[in-house]
This record gives sequence, C-alpha cells and structure tokens, in this order.
Amino acid sequence: MAKKEFKAESKRLLDLMINSIYTNKEIFLRELISNASDAIDKLYYKELQSGKAGINRDDFKITIETDKNAGTLKIIDNGIGMTLEEVENNLGTIAKSGSFDFKTGMGAAEAKEKSEEGVETEGGLGDDREKIDIIGQFGVGFYSAFMVSDRVEVVTKADGSDKAYRWVSEGVDGYEVEETEKPEAGTEITLKIKADTADENYSQYLQDGTLQRLVKNYSDYIRYPIEMMVEKRKMREGTGIPAGENGEPAVPAEFDTYEELVTLNSMVPLWKKQKSELTEEDYNNFYKDKFDYTEPLKVIHTNVEGVVSYTSLLFIPSQAPYNYYTKEFEKGLQLYSSGVLIMEKCGDLLPNHFSFVKGLVDSQDLSLNISREMLQHDRQLKAIAQRLEKKIKSELLSMQSNDRARYNEFYKNFGLQLKFGVYEGYGINKEVLKDLIMFYSSSEKQLVTLKEYVSRMKEDQDVIYYACGESAEKIDKLPQTEGLRDRGFEILYLTDDVDEFALQMLYDYDGKQFKSVQSDDIDLGQSEEEKQEAEKKAADNKDVIEAVKAALEGKVAEVKLSSRLKTHPVCLTSKGGLSIEMEKVLSQMPMEGGIEASKVLEINSGHPIVEKLAAAFAEDKEKLNKYAKLLYNQALLIEGLPIEDPVEFSNAICDLL
Ligand code: ADP
Repeated sequence: MAKKEFKAESKRLLDLMINSIYTNKEIFLRELISNASDAIDKLYYKELQSGKAGINRDDFKITIETDKNAGTLKIIDNGIGMTLEEVENNLGTIAKSGSFDFKTGMGAAEAKEKSEEGVETEGGLGDDREKIDIIGQFGVGFYSAFMVSDRVEVVTKADGSDKAYRWVSEGVDGYEVEETEKPEAGTEITLKIKADTADENYSQYLQDGTLQRLVKNYSDYIRYPIEMMVEKRKMREGTGIPAGENGEPAVPAEFDTYEELVTLNSMVPLWKKQKSELTEEDYNNFYKDKFDYTEPLKVIHTNVEGVVSYTSLLFIPSQAPYNYYTKEFEKGLQLYSSGVLIMEKCGDLLPNHFSFVKGLVDSQDLSLNISREMLQHDRQLKAIAQRLEKKIKSELLSMQSNDRARYNEFYKNFGLQLKFGVYEGYGINKEVLKDLIMFYSSSEKQLVTLKEYVSRMKEDQDVIYYACGESAEKIDKLPQTEGLRDRGFEILYLTDDVDEFALQMLYDYDGKQFKSVQSDDIDLGQSEEEKQEAEKKAADNKDVIEAVKAALEGKVAEVKLSSRLKTHPVCLTSKGGLSIEMEKVLSQMPMEGGIEASKVLEINSGHPIVEKLAAAFAEDKEKLNKYAKLLYNQALLIEGLPIEDPVEFSNAICDLL
C-alpha cells in the first residue's frame, strides 16, 4: 500500500512535537491511556444514550502488554474505535483532533487551511512561540508516542462497523493505512520502543516496574481498570526452609516465576470520595505517599460546584521544606483534569504568600491544550486560584482562633512568608494577610494578632507601639521600651528583618497607625506638668546640649533631653521614615549601601549625667567632647550598631576610670 505523507504543516509540527514540546518523555503513556479512557467514555455514553440494555462500566478496561523480545509495548482499549475516515483525520493530520470542539466559530485549523489555499496572505508560524500556540489548538497527544518509539501501529475498529484498519508510521516520513481484521471494537496501539542511547534509557518502558510506576504516578485515577500481566516470584516448595542452627536456611531458596493479572490504578481518587468516608489516617497516608515524609499540620478538602467546579485537597505542611525560603523553592499544586494528572506543579494556583500549601486540584472544567502540560485558557485557573486563596485564609483564621497552639506551630514555619507577603508588591495583599500575621507582645509574652492588640489598647492610646531588635530579650532591655511599659502600654516586638517594612506597608490597622518606640517624636502621654517641667529643663540646658551636638557633628541629626528614659542615661532614636533597624537591614544588602537613618541622641533628663555634662561644659570643653562621644557610643552599642572607633572608645573609658 502506498505511503501517505503527513500534511506539510503536520510534518513540521510532528518534528517540533518529538523534539521540544514535552520536556518529559515518560508522559507518552499518560497520553495514550487518557486517549483510551476517552474512547471508552465515548462508547459508554453512546450506549447509555441509545438506551442499550445491560451496559456495565465494569465491562470496559485498558490493557497494557509488553513483549520484551520484540521490544514492543501495547496499549489496548475496548472503547469506541475509529472509522477509516477518523483514522485519516485524527492520526493522518496533526492539525485535527476528534476531541477538539470548534466552539469559537472559525478555529485556527480552518484559518490555517485557508491560508494554505491562498485566501489569507498573512504567513504564520514565524517563531516557536507561535508554533506552540497553533499546536495548542489541536490534539497531538497521540504523537508523543514517537518520543519513545521508532514505529507506531494502530489497529482499530469503530463500534458498529464491520471493518478494521491498521495505521502504521515511523515518524515524519508519513504513514500507511490498510484494512485488517479485528474481532471487537476498540483500539490497539503498538509501540516499537527505541533502542537505548547514551542519554536515554528507553528499554525501561518495557519493564513491569516502570510501567507500574508511571500508571500509579500519572493515571492512578483513570476510571477504568488498567490491567497488566505482572511477573511475580514464588518460593519453590521445599527450598529455603527451615533455618538451620546458624540461622542460614537449611536448603537454599529457589523461586518459580509466574504471571498474574494486576490492576495498576486505584480508579477512585481519594479526593473524590466522601469526606465522611475518609479518616485522618487516609489523608495522612495519601499525603505521605505523594508529598512529604511527615504528617501534615492541616488538611483542607473542598468540593466546589459553580461556574467552575473543582475539588481541592490541600495540605499545610508541619514543617517548612529545607529550601523554602530560597529561590530554589518552587510553589504549586498538582492539577488534574477529571482524574488525569496534567501538571505536577501548577504555580498559578497559589499566591506567593501561601506558597507553602501542598496538594492538588481536580476540575473537569479546564480547557486543555494538546500537550496537557500547558493550559490554553487560564481564566478558569484564575477563578480557582482566587477561591483557593480565600479558603486557605479562612482555614488559617479559624485555626488561629480555635487552635492557637497549632497556629503557633504553623506560624513558626511560615509566618515569615506571610509578612513578606504583606510587603510584596507594595502591599497589594495586605488585606488578605493583616489578620494572619502576629508579633510578640511585651505584655502577653507571646505572639498576638493586631486585632488582639487593638482590642486591648488603652482609651487614650491612638497608635500601635512597636520596637525592633534582634530578640524579645534584647528589645525588653532597650531604654526606649522601659518607660512605655511602665506606663502600661503594650509593645509589639519586631525581631525579623522584614517586620518593620511590612508594618510600614500596612500603614495602619483598624485606623490605628503604627509607631516605633524608637522614633524621636513619640508621645508618652505625659501630663501638662510633666511637659512643662521637661521644657524648662531643656531651656536651662540649651547651651550644654548645643555643645554636645557640636561634638557629635555629622553623626547625629539632633541631640535632645528626653523624659522617656527611666534608668538609662541615653538612647538613640530616629527621625522620619527610615528607622535605625531599617538602616541595619538595608546595610546588609549589596545594593543599598549608604542609606542612613537620621539619628537623634536622647539624653535622660532625670539622670545625674545631665549635671555632669553641665559641669564639664562650664569647666572643660575637652571633657565635654569626650563625654559626648562616650554617650553616643554607648547609645550605638545599646542599639546593636557598630561603634566607629572601638580603640578610642576603650581608651576614653580607661581615662575616666
Ligand atoms: P487529543 O486526545 O488531545 O484530541 P490526540 O492526538 O491524543 O489528541 O488524539 C487525536 C484523536 O485521535 C483523538 O481526539 C481521538 O479522536 C483519536 N484517538 C486517539 N486515540 C484513540 C483511541 N485509543 N481510541 C479512539 N480514538 C482515539
């Protein structure tokens, strides 16, 4: 029989297909099994519709057969099969897929044909991107078989027809079709697996173990049984038993091999089962089987019916992956289309701030393109992603209020990511996240939410106080926090680099702005009397303070007497938006060198040091200079900032001693 050429375009597409569309050759099996399952679906529904009696889903199956000697792999189904016309159309021309539905008027296939006829002059297929887009319109899943085979043979008989056909192709060169015999309707695809090369181990596709793994991995939840004869071993009777005195078997074991028909897939996806049927253990085992080696912290199983219907099974891990906070970490959920895995990691389903979530989404409403690796339309995907985000948020909130210990556990691992999320994209996600974040509270001695903080605010308090530092212990000891705590104010302790940036992005919570206790203009809620006294003291010591400032020329923007401090003589605060903590964070980044906070040296007005300074100012200007530098360096040390000249500092201390 004469060899037929693939259509010109098909040739190029087939070539592209074999060489570039799929990154992962092993998915050919998933494609062929999915086609087989589709073909069975079609026959099953056809029979249902025709009202045929005694139709039973159990009569349908997909069979895998290998012949290691011949080097062939067969995928057999008893589905609807193909007529000659269908064989020609579906397998002879890549740019035609029987499953593709031209819903949108003139599809690209017609457009392409017209252009070949010269009606349209615009030449297509300029670059690879365009090729993929065009491929995206059609079914070429079948052709993925050529990634692993030298030769593909399809024997098929359409339901209701008495003729069967054999289609054979060795790739881009073309194909042959001839009539043949086949007793039952259905399709049998035989792949002549390629010989192994230095880079590729093709012969694995003839091995039971590989095939079992691939089915389990990609097609576990296909609704029809996928059966295969699997080689098993059985101990030959009378050998290998019993153990002798030294523990060795008295007789060496010998085995007989035999074959057993095995159903490779479990058919009903766990996520499709009723929640009431499932135990915590079922979920945990499933999770450990597929996603992680430890049990999940939380399982979220949801079934949504709507414009886009889907089932999602999400897990919050009980620990962060080792590379979670690095660039290497890749977020994403498994994506299934009616039980068939089409994407291992679909990143678009999760926002960055919830990137820790693992699990899967299964929907029948996704429009797929040919490779099943890329989704043609992401509108449905976006809709699903939005609902997932809402769901994850509400589950986390309910954990936060009903099971705080567990939430704390979660927060320990992923709280940082939530705070990055607040900061990311100029705060576009802050509404989603503001109730999920927590900070350590000076009064509660544990993590608290902003809502909890605000609910406890004193009547005359109009800002949310926070302080930054390396650890809660260190912040506790800061001079700036002491006074406020004494007056009964709660302070949030910020210990992660991102914290203050996140709060700045948040701007306020419930109308209450955030205020650093380390900024110079903090209102301590003093009485009128206290304020007057402070003003008087400042006026009395104006010249002394000016002299201290002159001694620290270029180092601080301002020096002032302060009544905020209790026991400590000095502290550093900052003016304006950039705090000292932010300066520290930014100074660690390679790009941001040279950005400095505008610092204010505050001297405790109630501390005897003020009198000492006044005396030095009157007697000995050199001494005053030395004191000023000492106090400044002390304040730097308290803030955890490096002092400029440690030798000079230590000499100055010795002098004084
Ligand atoms: P897709 O499945 O995405 O439409 P394929 O290239 O995998 O594209 O298949 C092309 C067409 O060939 C299918 O749409 C179907 O009509 C037909 N086909 C493929 N495999 C089978 C099969 N096992 N039984 C019946 N028809 C099949």
